[in-house]
Amino acid sequence: MELIVLTLQLEQLTSEIDNYLKRLFPINRSITGDGNRETLRILQEVAPIKIKEYSSGKKVYDWTIPDEWNVKDAWIKDINGNKIVDFKQSNIHLVSYSEPVDKNITFQELKTHIYIHPDLSDAIPYRTSYYKRDWGFCVTHAQYKELSMVDGLLKVHVDSGFKSEGSLTIGELLIPGESDQEILISTYICHPSLANDNLSGMVMTAFLARELLKQPKPKHSYRIIWVPETIGAITYCAMNESTMKKIQTGLVVTTVGGSGKYGYKQSYNKKNSINKSIENVFKEENIKYITYPFDIHGSDERQYSSQGFRINIASITKDKYYEYPYYHTSLDNLDFVKAEYIAESLRLHLKLLENISQESTSSPVYKNNFPNGEVMLSKHDLYPKTGGAQIPQAENYEELDLILWLLFWCDSKNSLADISEKLNINEDVLKKVAQNLIQKGVLSFE
Ligand code: ZN
Repeated sequence: MELIVLTLQLEQLTSEIDNYLKRLFPINRSITGDGNRETLRILQEVAPIKIKEYSSGKKVYDWTIPDEWNVKDAWIKDINGNKIVDFKQSNIHLVSYSEPVDKNITFQELKTHIYIHPDLSDAIPYRTSYYKRDWGFCVTHAQYKELSMVDGLLKVHVDSGFKSEGSLTIGELLIPGESDQEILISTYICHPSLANDNLSGMVMTAFLARELLKQPKPKHSYRIIWVPETIGAITYCAMNESTMKKIQTGLVVTTVGGSGKYGYKQSYNKKNSINKSIENVFKEENIKYITYPFDIHGSDERQYSSQGFRINIASITKDKYYEYPYYHTSLDNLDFVKAEYIAESLRLHLKLLENISQESTSSPVYKNNFPNGEVMLSKHDLYPKTGGAQIPQAENYEELDLILWLLFWCDSKNSLADISEKLNINEDVLKKVAQNLIQKGVLSFE
């Protein structure tokens, strides 16, 4: 009986996801603009996402929020008025952030503004020009040929606009838990009609939020955000700096709906427990997976793991970005991505979060109360009474070594389990040393 209920639930979930994929796929999204607002408004039907606006022109660290870009129409016609390329057929035809154009030009002149995919002749490639004012069209090989054969002039029209009074839009949902320790879940909303990268991510994240809200109060708090990639993540970090600096771990949800293999991108510290937790989920589920080591290229973990924040962020993927042939092309569409794959990825994410909450409640997180420079051990009576004494079960370390390592790693980010893994030493041994440091007021619970 229970199995039938679960199957029905899964069927219903899959059909709901499918419905949102179809509604959201055609919307023209970018790093700013009405398409992002409309997307978040639709996702508000799934979860109570708060929509926040940040003004164009605002400085955010080394960056500036750009003018808001919106587009009404764009096309290329021959002189007889036949449309050869049409934004309304596919919004990927237009380079994102194209400036307005309306002129008659030769193919020779047009050619420098046209992009084709090097390998896939039927695909429209996806291109952007966010920070350099320019315009351009992306076309299939057949369209390129057609344009090149036009005798005489071509009419090029881009009806777009930039608003300096505009804003960048971010979605946010905070789910308070028993502890203030937060897990960050971030996804990006800046891609137009591209299904795996990253319509799958923004939709799955909304359903993940809905599922988390259905459960009893979680142990951790969750900070779930829908941001335009890079500039949105940087804006969010700048606007929530002190909170973001306290976060230890999280996920970037991206490319979770392809037909190919599961994989995961490790966080910057490959020994961090999030990586192990993800591997455990795959193993428990008997799923073969590809491990992608941390790399400076990628998604918004680039911002969250930067020096100021150093959050260990990983991603579970199904057909990871960069890796599948349809990546950043019009063939990354709803024939390639299926709601059932997203529902399955959702289940894995939920299982992972459940495991993380169980694991980390058993492993405390401490902070060194004297983070600047070294602690003066003698002042706190921390020099071991007997010099050179080895601790049982810690044969490679003397007590003094463990005190120094704990002071080095207890930075509000690493749990005792993380430190135990780094030092290759039993967690209970470390805990005893840590308790002494707590008594002396040098360490405290985060
Ligand atoms: Zn992308």
